[in-house]
Amino acid sequence: MTPPLILVSNDDGYHSEGIRVLADALGSLGEVWVVAPDRENSAVSHALTLSRPLRLTQLAERGFAVDGTPTDCVTLGVGQVLKGRTPDLVVSGINFGANMGDDVHYSGTVSAAFEAVILGVPAIAVSQVIWSEFSYAFAGRFARLIATRVLGRGLPPGVLLNVNIPPSRPKGVRFTRLGKRTYGEGVVEDTDPRGRKCYWIGGGDPVWEDIPGTDYAAVGAGYTSITPLQLDMTDRDQLLLLDSEVAAWDLEGS
Ligand code: MN
Repeated sequence: MTPPLILVSNDDGYHSEGIRVLADALGSLGEVWVVAPDRENSAVSHALTLSRPLRLTQLAERGFAVDGTPTDCVTLGVGQVLKGRTPDLVVSGINFGANMGDDVHYSGTVSAAFEAVILGVPAIAVSQVIWSEFSYAFAGRFARLIATRVLGRGLPPGVLLNVNIPPSRPKGVRFTRLGKRTYGEGVVEDTDPRGRKCYWIGGGDPVWEDIPGTDYAAVGAGYTSITPLQLDMTDRDQLLLLDSEVAAWDLEGS
């Protein structure tokens, strides 16, 4: 039996510690290839580079850096580096910092995994929550465990697993839904050396709503959180409601 083909990417960059830990942890499970951004790309979401060509730089036998986004990396990983061979699994991470709740929409880590899902490849995103001291050791071990499960049982089309590892030794695992975060001070105003106003986004500490069953609640209680996420963001209830209303809409007069 051929060993599983595993593509690893991230948004912190090829040279980050987290992706080393992840690639090493998955090494015993199959043939691991790393295709990652050549520099940090956190919070770039699902951006795809269409306005310029991309460079693919080989840095190891199975390691490549791309001067692009995490989505570019998965696209080039599947379409060029592994050309002709479809990976059995894509794992993104281990991100330096949580990717929970609303933040999954900004996350390059989660978007790299979603890109794999779009390409029909099962995917996992792994993030290390950092509140004070932390170690990647638990995250590496857990990534291997959950990768083994997904390689064995697969995932439904359109679904990925978003994993967040607590800062200290996890008490166990909780399966969760996305939490809710509010930024207290979303915009911080400053003045640049030339006297012009400038602004920082995300300056304040994030404040989380304490909602039972969420990723934040699980990690806050010391557990590893696993949230199944789906690519299809259609709200089916609203779809039915709108459909039931449309006959009464004045479409001609508007
Ligand atoms: Mn990151």
